[in-house]
Amino acid sequence: MNYLSTRGHPDRKRFCEILLEGLAPDGGLYLPEHYPQVDTAMLAKWRGLPYAELAFEILSLYIDDIAPADLKAICAKTYTPEVFGTDEIVPLRELEDGVYLEALSNGPTLAFKDMAMQLLGNLFEYELARRGAELNILGATSGDTGSAAEYAMRGKKGVRVFMTSPDGRMSPFQQAQMFSLQDENIHNIAIAGVFDDCQDIVKAVSNDLGFKRKYRIGTVNSINWARLLAQVVYYFAGYFQATASNDKPVSFTVPSGNFGNVCAGHVARMMGLPIQTLVVATNENDVLDEFFRTGIYRVRAAADTHETSSPSMDISKASNFERFVFDLVGRDAGKLRSLFVDDLGRQGRFDLSGDPAFRQAAERFGFKSSRSTHADRLATIRDTDKRFATLVDPHTADGLKAAREHLAPGVPMVVLETALPIKFAATLVEALGHEPARPARFEGIEALPKRVVRLPADAEAVKAYIAQNCD
Ligand SMILES: *Cc1c(COP(=O)(O)O)cnc(C)c1O
Repeated sequence: MNYLSTRGHPDRKRFCEILLEGLAPDGGLYLPEHYPQVDTAMLAKWRGLPYAELAFEILSLYIDDIAPADLKAICAKTYTPEVFGTDEIVPLRELEDGVYLEALSNGPTLAFKDMAMQLLGNLFEYELARRGAELNILGATSGDTGSAAEYAMRGKKGVRVFMTSPDGRMSPFQQAQMFSLQDENIHNIAIAGVFDDCQDIVKAVSNDLGFKRKYRIGTVNSINWARLLAQVVYYFAGYFQATASNDKPVSFTVPSGNFGNVCAGHVARMMGLPIQTLVVATNENDVLDEFFRTGIYRVRAAADTHETSSPSMDISKASNFERFVFDLVGRDAGKLRSLFVDDLGRQGRFDLSGDPAFRQAAERFGFKSSRSTHADRLATIRDTDKRFATLVDPHTADGLKAAREHLAPGVPMVVLETALPIKFAATLVEALGHEPARPARFEGIEALPKRVVRLPADAEAVKAYIAQNCD
């Protein structure tokens, strides 16, 4: 399988070449040249496979530069009941007639990002060993991504993680999750500033090409194709659990921010998995909902990005969206460039409302969308507790609300559970008056010794710290 850039760069690359890269050289995102197709015979063969074997089957359609036995071993080592809590890895439970929750958040950091990041950690270790190379991952986090990356890379050979976060601005639980890691290859850097300062530092360091090369700086951000590919697997696993045979359609609702998770659903659907509808659930930051309602994609300024109670969906610009739009415009790289480079550069928006491709988007690609507010979130959390004795986190609550707006008779609706409620305890307390239960392994983590350095919001200070710790 070869990979191309959404912006038309002539080079074609293999999987392991793009694994350690971020954007394509022309600023585009990597996508496979085509989507491998599955038919009912393949689905029949895959139904009932353990999760790790299903992952191997799907990944091997996209990865032909890792020996099959090695890839199989990587999948087997990643998706274990020890790491993800159950034999099913992503168990499905029926909440009410036809509405299901797919549990993706029982990994080490209690958010769905572990599903992809744990695989990425093992792929990185494998590929770096093969090349005899090292990588220093530099990132910025306000919560879920940073901890998922650290738990995936801890103790891995050839990898160090330098994770910046805004000092004192994460929830105490999220902070404790990260700072209690004592592994030598994990470096927590608390920055005196806000999340945007952290992101600016990462950008400034990455733009210093000399430094970047000398210290082999890389990222694990959500545009990484391997992360997206890993997420395709749980759409298949959810489908098999929600149906008894392979000719029935299923719909999915996906709490969305950077469009990575739901883009994986799009890929599964393009492969031929019978998905009827993909519902994009947003919070008050409704860039994506606005697009699917109107055809206008309007990037928000930082000042217009609301701080909400489903904070992992607080985005102003969805970094994976370009992948979907590439398919939407018929994989025409020239047209894609005119939208994402010219129009977004000039006016911060593009408009497909008059385009026949957009008007067919819901029909051809199955997309629908909804938006929720803080009040909706609280109401859904209360209602789900009262009627089903089930606690959901604020992001999953946004999903449930959206799902109910797009139910179709006879079509199971699977809502992806993107985090466990304990990660967002303050909102649960606001809704219910009490804290959610905490998995035993996280009992008392706030009191553990912390491994963190505090630095000013200054890229030079961060560079000096990296240089000191890379020998
Ligand atoms: C990252 C995250 C999301 C958003 O996922 P995207 O792939 O960025 O769309 C939603 N919910 C939670 C809990 C997350 O951590």
